[in-house]
Amino acid sequence: MQPGNGIDCAFCQHGHLKRYTLKETPTFLVVTDHAPLVAGHILIIPRNHYTCYGDVPADLDAELLTLKQTVRQFFARFYAAPVFWEHGIFHQTVFHAHLHCFPFGEEIRYDLASGLHERLITSQDDLRAWHRQHNQYFYLEDSQHGVLFQPEIERYRQIIQQVLWPGVSTRITTPGWRSPQQRQQEGQPLIAETIARWRTFEQQGEAYADEQPRTR
Ligand SMILES: [Zn+2]
Ligand SMILES: [Zn+2]
Repeated sequence: MQPGNGIDCAFCQHGHLKRYTLKETPTFLVVTDHAPLVAGHILIIPRNHYTCYGDVPADLDAELLTLKQTVRQFFARFYAAPVFWEHGIFHQTVFHAHLHCFPFGEEIRYDLASGLHERLITSQDDLRAWHRQHNQYFYLEDSQHGVLFQPEIERYRQIIQQVLWPGVSTRITTPGWRSPQQRQQEGQPLIAETIARWRTFEQQGEAYADEQPRTR
């Protein structure tokens, strides 16, 4: 395990993430966001330090896809269909690759006809190719499409308005956009709920596995 590129990197200091950790694998952590935008807000983080998912090597792709599928199943059981979101360096607050998983539901979608996106993304290779050539981006994936956007503040604002805010505003009771500090304070019960539900999800998964017919 690599210590990471900076002692200041919050996601390289896994000790800080312990209380938020849902699942650990040799290469990834699945954690609840410490300042959740909505109940169920989860992050998928590679253990090693990469600047963004465009920077993550291809040999981690299969596991990432498996973890996204696990989060999808968890959300389907306890929340709503996911929207995945990544600040590919652009507008990151922690400079270490992380994929946001928001249970916004299938009705929250990016409107392709709005033409705000730069390209459709069908694999991690597409992200890497963009990152190699152009460095920054931001990325969104709803139940229909993965789309990459140019790192422009006006586009970013429009996507927040079109997708993120509708997803958040229908799921919170306090009106208006909250600061990370507010979300951290108000988020403690949401985090506890997500962790408790994840444990149930894991136990049920194990129970289902036990019910499988044995071959020998
Ligand atoms: Zn890091
Ligand atoms: Zn982030």
